[in-house]
Amino acid sequence: MPWHRHAAPQGALPRRTALGWMLGCGCALGTPWLARPAAAQGLPPDWPVPPRFTRPDVSTDEGGLWAMLDREETRLRRSPFRIREPALQSYLDGVTARLAGEHAADVRLYALFTPMFNASMAPNGMMQVWSGLLLRMENEAQLAAVIGHEIGHYLQRHTLERLRDMKARSAFGQFMGMFGLVGLMAQLATLASAFGFSRDQERQADEVGTLLMRRGGYDTREAAKVWANLVAEMQAAGDTSAASGGAMFATHPGASERSATLLTLAGGDSGGYVGEAEYAAQLAPIRGKLLEEEVRRNRPAESLTLLTRMLARQPQDAELLATRAELYRLRATGDDADKALADLQAATQTGKEPATAHRALGQLHQAQGRREAARTAFQTYLQRSPQAADAALIQQTIEDLKP
Ligand SMILES: [Zn+2]
Repeated sequence: MPWHRHAAPQGALPRRTALGWMLGCGCALGTPWLARPAAAQGLPPDWPVPPRFTRPDVSTDEGGLWAMLDREETRLRRSPFRIREPALQSYLDGVTARLAGEHAADVRLYALFTPMFNASMAPNGMMQVWSGLLLRMENEAQLAAVIGHEIGHYLQRHTLERLRDMKARSAFGQFMGMFGLVGLMAQLATLASAFGFSRDQERQADEVGTLLMRRGGYDTREAAKVWANLVAEMQAAGDTSAASGGAMFATHPGASERSATLLTLAGGDSGGYVGEAEYAAQLAPIRGKLLEEEVRRNRPAESLTLLTRMLARQPQDAELLATRAELYRLRATGDDADKALADLQAATQTGKEPATAHRALGQLHQAQGRREAARTAFQTYLQRSPQAADAALIQQTIEDLKP
């Protein structure tokens, strides 16, 4: 998946741009990928994980790259976007260790608040997992599929392979020359796109990831669902072109193919650990914030697909109902207002709705001319959340709504 990107540094990416997803394309990209009969045969069951790598000498090409990435990692460690939840961090580290074995000592996972679906692995063992991805995982096995894939890139030393490729093509000197001209973040963004993994490397990472999942006792069939779910989101948004997925996806197999490949790799596997309840419990402390981020992403077709999928599993979840209502309310096309109202009413019936659900109710009633109902809803909001940043504004609205 980085499933597509290496050293994608926080801040270097075009946030909330036309890229939208970085997800790319569900189409076949017109490549021979599907036709290749050897694809998805998988590694032999006894494939030996390579021994731990030693730090490359600084005078070598790889050593130079590592030194640069170490500096980037220092920035990442201090980044305000980092998700600083010790319990969640140790959980993520635990999943990594279960997959990486002795390499876990060399791999460092950084979870970041960035509402896009992405994970990445740098050759020095610096791994990033973004919050848009965390929100979309349905269970621990799916998370393990992502992390296993990234570890696959690491174990196969794919970045070094790409580096050597570039040198062989004499592009490397020119490439390194650019480093003097732009800031480090931009350099790394360039690096990431220049080092984009090949299709073969992506397939290899999927093979290693599947094998590590299997050895870790996970249900490998969950890996394909990650991509199937993404395809559903993209289709809802009418987003099936390679171009809309951005450069990140241009050289990678589309999500539909990934799903099919991973399903083949899972083969006849059955059983294994899924961990749906465990994953939900671990994510719970930050889920509210992730849902707020998701709404602010302003990609309602994708977000509504996601929320509807989540609600199918937890139909009584007041926070999810309120979030979906907010997406409908903000999109406001067709009968969205009615759908928002229905979700908010369902949320309030649980008695566990967030205070903001009442504000949203007030706004909906107000927009539809139900002044008394709007006033009541706004009053409930202020009773529940008297210190809200918009309390004065809402109070004024209540006054204005008086008959
Ligand atoms: Zn990858």
